[in-house]
Amino acid sequence: MLETIWQTLLQTPNYLFDANKRIFIGYSIAALVIAMLLYFSGRAQQKKRTWRGLGRYLFSKRIWLSKSAKLDYQLLIINRLLKAALWVPIVLTMVPVAIGVSDALQWLFGERAVWQLPSTVVLVIFTVLLFIFDDLTRFLLHLALHKVPFLWHFHKVHHSALVLTPMTIYRSHPFESYLYACRMALAQGFVVGVCVYCFGRNLSMLDILGANVFAFNALG
Ligand SMILES: [Zn+2]
Repeated sequence: MLETIWQTLLQTPNYLFDANKRIFIGYSIAALVIAMLLYFSGRAQQKKRTWRGLGRYLFSKRIWLSKSAKLDYQLLIINRLLKAALWVPIVLTMVPVAIGVSDALQWLFGERAVWQLPSTVVLVIFTVLLFIFDDLTRFLLHLALHKVPFLWHFHKVHHSALVLTPMTIYRSHPFESYLYACRMALAQGFVVGVCVYCFGRNLSMLDILGANVFAFNALG
């Protein structure tokens, strides 16, 4: 147990090098460039625009070390620890969902690999479908978190931040994090299952792992 906790803490900085994470170094640099453009274009409310001023504008202690930001950091760690300790046995994972969906389609409609298309076309269709379905289900869950009083009770933690940093994305109640993890498994499993049924072997595991939402995250 202690070993798991220790490993989880040690692996947290890996978020910076994981393109699936919202604070991945590539996206952070993209956000930094956008902030720099904002600062030097004069939209930021600063009088003198110097490089030193930019540093103070981007990394203000008042923001990064505020009570609100510190709670974001704590919630990131707490959520990661809870995930390592509790979720593995209870959270849904993508692979069984994908197998279930493609088996169900086969049972309903017969033979697999209905369409024989070139692998590049398959990859494009798969990536677009995954992007749309992932974003749509994320939107619908977020809507439910706002509209259903029981769910809002947990979600209001996310909207109680007094300052915003890139880490505020991780400011969420552990129950909300659990719901999002289940959503991801269901959404990705559904799209992978449908595409495996439709395209069969043309959809390799490399395509599945390679289809990340780079553009979405890099555009800030
Ligand atoms: Zn919200």
